Amino acid sequence: MKCFDTHIHSEGRSVEDLTAMANEGIKAAITCAFYPIKPMFQETLIDLFRKLIDFEKYRGKKTGMEIHTAIGIHPRCIPPTYTKVLEMMEGMDSTAFGEIGLEDATQEEIEVFESQLKLAIRVDKPCIIHTPRNNKKEVTKKTFGILEKIGFPETLAVIDHVSLETVETVLKANYIAGLTVQPGKLREEEVVTIVEEHGFENFILNSDTGFSPSDMFAVVKTVNVLIEKFDKKDVKRVAWENGMRFFRI
Ligand SMILES: [Zn+2]
Repeated sequence: MKCFDTHIHSEGRSVEDLTAMANEGIKAAITCAFYPIKPMFQETLIDLFRKLIDFEKYRGKKTGMEIHTAIGIHPRCIPPTYTKVLEMMEGMDSTAFGEIGLEDATQEEIEVFESQLKLAIRVDKPCIIHTPRNNKKEVTKKTFGILEKIGFPETLAVIDHVSLETVETVLKANYIAGLTVQPGKLREEEVVTIVEEHGFENFILNSDTGFSPSDMFAVVKTVNVLIEKFDKKDVKRVAWENGMRFFRI
């Protein structure tokens, strides 16, 4: 079954890796903006976005994987100033904004997140919203507070890296939930538990593979586990259709 990995960092993977992923069935992916060190200049991020949109798409084509791009200021990559970054984001040809969100929920992070959300509303752009490994429950709550405060449309938000602990609140708030299958995030069996309980309608799958050690085949492996237990039609939704619809591809 062809798969859509809705959150990767393709820059962290070689052409050989991307080809192997495509050969295993990962025919589409969204590569998300992340800079591994805190940028000293806002221009660093602007060039990063240009690289994702031009070069990563091109690399994807050579491997048989359609790479779409999400651009944005990750909470761990906030440059000293970012007004120009926002200006560029407005005009650039990206599929989504991401990953954006909160890590430690500092005042600076909240400000940067809010300004990107407001821009997303203005230009009608889907957003990949990161939730952190630490204090996930509290930070997810704070994230919802911000989304509600500015009246962010549910149709534009995927809350990513949900856990067994946060999945219910995400669905109750009518957001799409991103299931990230990776050590330290979700295990395949946990995805089974989640869809058994909540169905297939509101989920998308991803691996978040990129710069750190990770399983680049995680989405395919999960889909194979799901196919053994559930109707193929349902599995196809989380493997491909829900993501394609949400990101309007
Ligand atoms: Zn990521």
